[in-house]
Amino acid sequence: MRIVDIAEVTASIASDIRNAYIDFSKMDVSVVKITTDVIRDGKPVVGYGFNSNGRYAQGGIMRDRILPRLRAASPDDLRDPERDNLDPFRAWDIMMANEKPGGHGERSVAVGVVDMALWDIVAKIEDKPLHILLAERYGTGRAEPTAFVYAAGGYYYPGKDIEALQAEMRGYLAMGYDTVKMKIGGAPLADDIKRIEAVIAILDGDGSRLAVDANGRFDLDTAIAYARALDPYGLKWYEEAGDPLDYALQATLGEIYQGPMATGENLFSHQDARNLLRYGGMRPDRDILQFDPALSYGLVEYLRTLAVMKQAGWSPRRCIPHGGHQFALSIAAGLGLGGNESYPGIFAPFGGFADDAPLSASRVDLPAVPGVGFETKAKLMDLYGRLFD
Ligand code: MG
Repeated sequence: MRIVDIAEVTASIASDIRNAYIDFSKMDVSVVKITTDVIRDGKPVVGYGFNSNGRYAQGGIMRDRILPRLRAASPDDLRDPERDNLDPFRAWDIMMANEKPGGHGERSVAVGVVDMALWDIVAKIEDKPLHILLAERYGTGRAEPTAFVYAAGGYYYPGKDIEALQAEMRGYLAMGYDTVKMKIGGAPLADDIKRIEAVIAILDGDGSRLAVDANGRFDLDTAIAYARALDPYGLKWYEEAGDPLDYALQATLGEIYQGPMATGENLFSHQDARNLLRYGGMRPDRDILQFDPALSYGLVEYLRTLAVMKQAGWSPRRCIPHGGHQFALSIAAGLGLGGNESYPGIFAPFGGFADDAPLSASRVDLPAVPGVGFETKAKLMDLYGRLFD
């Protein structure tokens, strides 16, 4: 078996939302389609990959460095030594040849896009949904048929008032979510507290069904001021209070804030994840790790991240990846993570799960088709068709 074509394009996911740090008016993603010479149901097996939202398209790095290395590799270099299939680990080493250690950033996004497409292919060649394949190869042997998902929204829109925020959250409850997340830090503390209380009011007064996300905006004093104000509400978690690399801030916050903290979506390597666990004061009995495999060198690297977590005494259940995409959902169900983010209605059609997937009590069914499950999303497949054909 061999790769016969790799196509790469940039697609827009621009919108008028913003969080405490960025707006999404220019947001885009890289998309790849990898075609093999393996035939299933009379057609070549193809794999798709894209980066999840919040980081821009990485076509330059892919065209200049990552994809030429992959194209130059011989079929034998990419073949799984034990199976007639691609080997994403060998592909990863080839993509990362002549790259210095450290500085994990945009390069990790470029590799993650390709890694997603390779795993889509591997599972399709084995004729299994990715979550089943992952459970068999790297998990307990049994994938979970559903995964916990929560609705991430509550962005700052132009002119959005509290009634509109409540209406948005009621919409998520009507879809079958019982846990939601909203942005904080884009308004003064007193205003954010009014927004938080308004959302808790429609969650039957239960703060444990609401997570809040500051998107790394706060300095230490502001992070602590919010911590003191938030603690009485018993929130699901308090996310990314300070800069993603400010482990001392996170550790100090953990001494003050009793409820769960969450962070990690902007750490893009197992080494950065390990530093968070070593120096960030994160607590394995309650805190949440949000590393996003699509932004951080893909699943090959995510397996390394899970390994350093295990060494540090962390359960995979503490992981709820950022991103709201099917790739992380498959990993969550296959490897026993705590769940996955969801962005109903935004970042579509890349974000979101199977069109007909039942969702109730904040759990969503995994797709039954081979691969990551992209073929269960009509609008995504339409877009792939327009981008590549
Ligand atoms: Mg976040």
